Amino acid sequence: MIARVEPLTRTRAVRGPFDYRLAPGQDVEVGSLLRVPFGARSSLGVVVELAERSELDPDRLVEPEAVLGAGVGADLVALAGWMAREYCSTPSRSLQLMLAPGASVGTGARLALVAELTAAGRTALADPGARLNDRQRGLLDALGRRGATAAAELDTPGLRRLESRGLVAIDRRARPRRPVRHEVGSASVTAPPLTQEQSAALERLITALSARPAGHPGFLLQGVTGSGKTEVYLGAVEAALSAGRTAIVLVPEIALTPQVLWRFQARFGDVVAVQHSALSVGERHDEWMRLRSGEARVCVGPRSAVFAPLDDIGLIVVDEEHESSYKHEGDPRYDARTVARERAERHGAVLVFGSATPRPESVLAMERLRLTHRVDRRPMPAVEVLDMRDRHQPLHPETRMALADLRRAGGKAILLLNRRGWSNFLSCRACGRVWLCPNCDVALVLHRHGHFIACHHCGHRERTPDRCGACGSVSVARHGAGTERIADELREALGEERFPIFRLDADSSSLPERARTLQAFQAAPAGVLVGTQMVAKGHDFPDVSGAAVLDADQTLRFPDFRAEERTFALITQLAGRTGRGALASRVLVQTLAPDARPISFATRHDSDGFIVDELERRRALSYPPYASLIRIVCSAPDEALARETAAAIHVELAGIDATVLGPAPLFRLRGRARSQLVIKAQARQSAIDTVGRAVDRVAPGAARRGAAVSVDVDPQ
Ligand code: ADP
Ligand code: ZN
Ligand code: ZN
Repeated sequence: MIARVEPLTRTRAVRGPFDYRLAPGQDVEVGSLLRVPFGARSSLGVVVELAERSELDPDRLVEPEAVLGAGVGADLVALAGWMAREYCSTPSRSLQLMLAPGASVGTGARLALVAELTAAGRTALADPGARLNDRQRGLLDALGRRGATAAAELDTPGLRRLESRGLVAIDRRARPRRPVRHEVGSASVTAPPLTQEQSAALERLITALSARPAGHPGFLLQGVTGSGKTEVYLGAVEAALSAGRTAIVLVPEIALTPQVLWRFQARFGDVVAVQHSALSVGERHDEWMRLRSGEARVCVGPRSAVFAPLDDIGLIVVDEEHESSYKHEGDPRYDARTVARERAERHGAVLVFGSATPRPESVLAMERLRLTHRVDRRPMPAVEVLDMRDRHQPLHPETRMALADLRRAGGKAILLLNRRGWSNFLSCRACGRVWLCPNCDVALVLHRHGHFIACHHCGHRERTPDRCGACGSVSVARHGAGTERIADELREALGEERFPIFRLDADSSSLPERARTLQAFQAAPAGVLVGTQMVAKGHDFPDVSGAAVLDADQTLRFPDFRAEERTFALITQLAGRTGRGALASRVLVQTLAPDARPISFATRHDSDGFIVDELERRRALSYPPYASLIRIVCSAPDEALARETAAAIHVELAGIDATVLGPAPLFRLRGRARSQLVIKAQARQSAIDTVGRAVDRVAPGAARRGAAVSVDVDPQ
């Protein structure tokens, strides 16, 4: 027998599969993970096909060195092939996303070197003056975020050096680990009696589950916030399980919304396995194995859970389908929603997307199920627009007053500002110099409490300057406000023991710490939660009665066709966090663009109106869903090479049945100049194929000169 093997490499130039001869008794299937001789080295590889004979000279074929556990099923091998084509990537890169966590770096159930921060490591990480180079700080930061991590996933020699300084502890571990359960909020073992709308939606899903309708576009469960969508998912999962099938539930961010996971665990117990980034590799590996062996039959997790190794999938749910975190940023730049649709089709599974603010493309394509009322029948909160033109303070007087009222009444509020740090940028009052990132064309943001200024794109940090490096002046101006400054100002104006101010953003360090902040806010009888967009995500606080968005049109200033959709979703989702408590609720929207379309639709809670209007606009401008976008970004050490590479691809695209825009320069990022092409196509598949071929012709030559090409199909 011959095994056709795709070697697991990151290089685009190496394209398998390659033939290997199997020894008698070597038990190999499509999807098996092998160690094979590859050139002068050995490599991991996945069997993509079995054959009776090879086209090659049988004497020149070699045998695999070993068959490893933790391979995938044949369905995932086929899905990887589809993904490689759909996202102009390679089967190898696609397969690497699907293997058992840790498998591709040779960790897994066997003993692995696991690294963790020590107390000294934590202290060094918090101290911007610590003697660390960028690489070392990066390693400590990764450990701080992820907790115990397999050393091989990061950089074993680098970690060993930090170990010798006492900043990191490394040891060899192999016990099977089960993730800790976070029992948050009330979750019932049995379903409550469903509302009429919930029952109708669930009935429709159960009918579809038994009919296995091929080619059905899937269901969109559009329900206002608090309308009980999760209860419908739970019912559908139960139906899939009792039909002997399995289910996948995708959620945006488990660490921040542990109550969703807990509701599934409370209802279904150990058949639920979980995958998420805050787990250690060992935990993720062992949970993956429980799915692969059939012990667990429901996988709840973020976008990568769409690859859960389950057979006979009956249901795939994508909760909060409007969230941009479903798009993967590495190669292949897959969209978990598109992959979910493809995988559901291949398994004859029912596909359900859910949201209070669905994307216009989902509304257009899918069968809609509606939940129009909140479960408790409470009205939606009143949304008021506050005009910020000609105002120089970050908080409108009305917002200040509302917060002071809330403090008096003893209530809770959420304040959203999509910008972290203390102020946006620093400039010298004498010579006008602005502090910029040395690697990127952006300003450095002040983090006053950390005593540093930082680039939010590459992570570069410097100590907060006390004088201008150009002219020596000590007069440094701070411009704009971020979450850190707002939290400071509120603490000064309102803060006290009875009315604490909490802050939640990517600066409030690790995921577990953020989860603790949320729990503290939840437990407090009164107070304010200030943060970036993560405060608007699916949390279910029972007693929040006030909310404010500062600079609501900030998202509108991005040159992006989704800007309007994002702005509408942000305000609506934030409004949805309120009004579940005893006090009458108010939502204040501070903006420089009080008449902007998405803002006025959001103040009227008019999702349908917004979507109709937005689809009309998209049609007129030929944006998705009326056309597909493909973005090609070429990066290089210098501007000329980046532009030349983009231009060379443009030439190769001659004859494409699509509009090609560019090359257009992008701002420099991580020390690399960038140039971009955007393709707007009606004929999606043929455009993807043409782009794939053009990039394959140009990229290898460009790579030898130091340029890199990345392709993003359906960019966000
Ligand atoms: P959504 O996901 O639509 O925002 P949830 O599913 O989180 O809404 O439901 C909001 C709250 O209502 C939750 O606390 C949930 O337990 C509760 N709930 C949902 N359905 C019912 C029902 N039929 N009867 C009583 N309470 C319900
Ligand atoms: Zn100066
Ligand atoms: Zn930078």
